[in-house]
Amino acid sequence: MDPAAVAAVAALAAAALLLAVGLQRRGPSGLSAERARAGTDAAQATARAAEAEERAAAWVQDVGVLVDLVGIGVIRVSDDLTVISANETAARLLARRAAGLPGRSVMEVSTDHRLEEIVRGALQTGAAAGELTIRTTEAPTLLVRARRLSSGDAWLVLEDVTELRRLQRIRTEFIDNLAHELRTPLTTVSLLAETLALEAGNLPPRTADRIAKIEVETGHLVQMVNELLDLSKIESGSAALLLSDVDLARLADATVERLSLFAERHGVRMVVEADGAIPLVRGDGERLGQALLNLLHNAVKFSPAGAEVVIRVRADEHEVVVTVQDHGPGIPRSARTRVFERFYKGDRARTREVGGTGLGLSIARHIVEAHGGRIWVDSEEGSGSTFGFAVPFAGPDLAATPGA
Ligand code: ADP
Repeated sequence: MDPAAVAAVAALAAAALLLAVGLQRRGPSGLSAERARAGTDAAQATARAAEAEERAAAWVQDVGVLVDLVGIGVIRVSDDLTVISANETAARLLARRAAGLPGRSVMEVSTDHRLEEIVRGALQTGAAAGELTIRTTEAPTLLVRARRLSSGDAWLVLEDVTELRRLQRIRTEFIDNLAHELRTPLTTVSLLAETLALEAGNLPPRTADRIAKIEVETGHLVQMVNELLDLSKIESGSAALLLSDVDLARLADATVERLSLFAERHGVRMVVEADGAIPLVRGDGERLGQALLNLLHNAVKFSPAGAEVVIRVRADEHEVVVTVQDHGPGIPRSARTRVFERFYKGDRARTREVGGTGLGLSIARHIVEAHGGRIWVDSEEGSGSTFGFAVPFAGPDLAATPGA
């Protein structure tokens, strides 16, 4: 479902449950009926309040029906992790009876310990989200979003994303199969174009020029197919991480070495600044090298001739942070989160000029996240960008990394 629609329905549901809780706490209004009978002003006011309360109760019921209809589960949890209220859908999604949920602890409600983690996360930081699998024969996947309230309680919104995740898997498999099928013929065409280009010395200049263009374009296609295969391997977790102790400062030097010819051709100087002794991180050196290579390749590619690219490596309390700073065109604010999406290309005209598949940053993001790390970009349009990533010393959480 559209996230805006989910948010709107969740807000309605929250209001409904909140009112329901309020109504329950206030209890029946027998006294107000007595006063109404006495005919005093106060009694009339109380009668009006009772009427409003009835209308509110009906409204709560209506909204409850609506929320159940769209299939969103809503739960209110207290700060001691006890369920205060829950709608029918929440109970159905968790394979429980609705009447049995209030009063239970979050740990009792789901066997998947991630629910407790999400709730604790929201209570501590204000908001948290994650996915759970319910242990039934259908094993549905639930997306849970939690938000802390000023009262100290938290709202949880549960959404069944089983079908969405299945479709995403099919899409990945489809791209994977297609890329596999394309790789062999494309590599052959690319090699033939390369051979033709070598033999093009005696051909008329226009023909030689066309052969050179075929060589360049098939080279791009081969690169795109290879990157797609890489990405789907990392995304699906089928590419096992080969863990060892990695020295990111040495990796930065090695990556600079790998790109030295490319940088020389662009007239760009690369500098590595390592801040003291950098602790080793547990990770896959080759993959982390690939992530850094993608960031550095972009930094050089987007830099003007004569510019400098600086790679900084430093250690924080639990992690090593690597940043790559360039003085290129920068990235507009609106594009800063999108650059990490697969196939995202910024300025089409510029990208065509410098080349690229729109996959490099997506690959880098997946590699860093598979290591339990994070990746980001700071940029000032017109004066440059700094891409950074951080990986924890301890390396990936092995339980959370399929194939690792
Ligand atoms: P590509 O292979 O097209 O470079 P990426 O995923 O690496 O794909 O980058 C996606 C987009 O992000 C690029 O098309 C570009 O618009 C923008 N981008 C990436 N790095 C930089 C950078 N250092 N400076 C400016 N723009 C960048």
